[in-house]
Amino acid sequence: MIPVFTFAGQRVGVMGLGKSGLSAAAALKAGGASVLVWDDKPEQRKAATDAGWALLDPEAHRLDVAALIWSPGVPHSLPKPHALAVKARAQNIPMICDVDLLARAQQSSSFIGITGTNGKSTTTVLTAHIFKQAGRPIAVGGNLGTPALDLKALGGLGTYVLELSSYQLELVPSLSLETAVFLNITPDHLERHGSMDGYVAAKRRIFEKQRHPRAAIIGIDDSYSASLRDQLVRGGGHTVIPISVKQAVPGGVYVENGILIDATDRRPREIADLRTIATLPGAHNWQNAAAASAAALSQGIAGPIIAAALKSFKGLPHRQELVATIKGVPFINDSKATNADAAEKALRCYENIYWIAGGIAKEGGIASLAPLFPRIRHAFLIGDAADDFADALEGKVPHDLYEDLETAIEDAGRRAFKDNKPGAVVLLSPACASFDMFKNFEERGDRFRTEVQHLWPQTTSSSSTESLNP
Ligand code: ADP
Repeated sequence: MIPVFTFAGQRVGVMGLGKSGLSAAAALKAGGASVLVWDDKPEQRKAATDAGWALLDPEAHRLDVAALIWSPGVPHSLPKPHALAVKARAQNIPMICDVDLLARAQQSSSFIGITGTNGKSTTTVLTAHIFKQAGRPIAVGGNLGTPALDLKALGGLGTYVLELSSYQLELVPSLSLETAVFLNITPDHLERHGSMDGYVAAKRRIFEKQRHPRAAIIGIDDSYSASLRDQLVRGGGHTVIPISVKQAVPGGVYVENGILIDATDRRPREIADLRTIATLPGAHNWQNAAAASAAALSQGIAGPIIAAALKSFKGLPHRQELVATIKGVPFINDSKATNADAAEKALRCYENIYWIAGGIAKEGGIASLAPLFPRIRHAFLIGDAADDFADALEGKVPHDLYEDLETAIEDAGRRAFKDNKPGAVVLLSPACASFDMFKNFEERGDRFRTEVQHLWPQTTSSSSTESLNP
């Protein structure tokens, strides 16, 4: 834990007692602050008072705290203003999150922040991996896995690699990044940001207050991000490094026919052939690889070191994770695909797919996936959405319905072995949330991994990370 001394001798409020809130409370207390906590859920308050924390009084006329540490997961303005946030703003009490406290506590460290609608976790972990392979002391966290103040103290020689959600970016006025990565932006979380403009505004805060070398790495393959790049270039205050998997970009890092190219110097140079890296399948992962490589280049890490690190990257669990290859058939766990858009990314990567899907569907179901149906040899449907998905597949893709994931896996494997098609894969990419049958997508993916191992015992890979916020 990293003690935060900024508020020594002062009273500070902590709102939201999840993992990051409790970690912030402990760090502030260790730094000599007097901490008052609050959570809207009575059971969280009870756990906190049982653990010895004093409660903030949200009804008090004046809040009487020097700062309010706000958990990014708790809506403060939209869809409706939170009474505590309204009070804090009226009294000019700064609302910040744990990442801001980390920035205050470790001012001499270097900071890399990564945001975007999709690919944040993969890019964050990959960037950290490249830095580690280059021998740089790093710590990785933020929205991913370990809360900011539970990371180790790095001091002047280290680099924090932080995944930053749009919610966190609204609460980090002190954070100053050497390298900021903005992967992509598509409509998401609009209920909390009010509109696409609000969402873009929250995300673009990643480029505010940057410090040398002020590297602004931007994926320019969607129109919002492309126009943001234009604004930053016009503004003149940043070293802008554009990223693309669709076009060659002078001055940037891009992917052409699967080859990752560094064009940040005058003469474009090949870094790696991404088609040969099994843990980074698909154009979406090539965008992540290009962004992570650009982050490394911006901090002086050389191309050959980056290439070696890309090759040794293990990938993240639940994101097109290869759990085993049985009788020549890869079994792929893409449990993180909780909507059709994410499942599309995986379906695009393979031919001859034995597809396990279903759970709680998002609006629109799998209609948008119809152009990819010809790749699916057979679908194995589970959960609440099974009937609707069966209707969508009727007459196009053979399918069966299952009561449980285990039987679906067994049948999918058996059928793939029997058909013996070239390049066949068994793919769990549910296009659905998991809550009808599992605690979360991690439990669903873990079950897939365990069951494959149980049915066809041999060596399988496993690990675990989780994101706190979108
Ligand atoms: P996040 O942390 O932003 O949710 P992840 O790295 O966990 O992103 O990836 C989640 C899912 O998003 C992946 O399983 C994949 O389907 C999709 N994805 C990953 N990277 C990208 C990208 N660059 N662009 C679009 N979709 C992506």
